[in-house]
Amino acid sequence: MTPRTLVQRLPAQPLVEGAGVRVLRTIGTPALRHLDPFLLLDHFGSDDPQDYLAGFPEHPHRGFVTFTHMLDGRMLHRDSLGNAGEVRAGGAQWMKAARGVIHAEMPQGEGLLRGFQLWINLPAAEKMSAPAYQEFPPQAIPEIRGKNVTVRLFMGQYQGHTGPIVDELTAVNYLDVRLERGRFIHPLPATHTAFIYGYEGSLRVAGSLLPPHTLAVLSPGEEVQVEAEAARFILVAGRPLGEPVVQYGPFVMTSREEIEQALRDFRAGTLVRGGTQ
Ligand code: FE
Repeated sequence: MTPRTLVQRLPAQPLVEGAGVRVLRTIGTPALRHLDPFLLLDHFGSDDPQDYLAGFPEHPHRGFVTFTHMLDGRMLHRDSLGNAGEVRAGGAQWMKAARGVIHAEMPQGEGLLRGFQLWINLPAAEKMSAPAYQEFPPQAIPEIRGKNVTVRLFMGQYQGHTGPIVDELTAVNYLDVRLERGRFIHPLPATHTAFIYGYEGSLRVAGSLLPPHTLAVLSPGEEVQVEAEAARFILVAGRPLGEPVVQYGPFVMTSREEIEQALRDFRAGTLVRGGTQ
């Protein structure tokens, strides 16, 4: 098995998103605009409601998938497809914005709120397809416990188990891993883009130290190796699309013309109906 090595280590950038939510961003910053097929990775984590209660009021998306994974706390969601629900600690939400969704994501409660939002690009041929939405309560996510390792498996495979969220377009793997005094070795499709983001404790990824709130971009290879005393991290991989990426805020298409069309559709109120022809 060819081991993956660490090719880039990127500390998260603190910034304020939505109506005033503090997030830590790695993918989607000037230092790493995209990591094909991934467009953005935000980690939010605070026990001060002032950092998150303003939330993300109504806003549009077109051209990609948003995936939200809650570690602690809960977030209300309401969208232009008529979906309304709550993403709870340990659960997730998968939303294919495709040709257009307008939604609100509003954190609730008083205590600790922690989680991730990952944007996954769609192939050009799927960008104007019909939107779709799925919610996964915590009990829908398999938790696989080993001697030193506990894995919550959202997408992809781990030790014969398959995550409930299946994305055939980019074949994403998404594992939430807790590792104590030991080594975690995991096979991945050799040419998938892959990264690790540590959110508790320090890790060694392919032999290199990775402090918390840092993204490790991995080389191609058949397996990844992580060591830690006590740490938590996400391991994510996906098939690269190899297509142009043209982004304007919440719209991600393959050309400037398509972005201008998205803006026209949004202003005309037709974004969620597929746009004007
Ligand atoms: Fe959103």
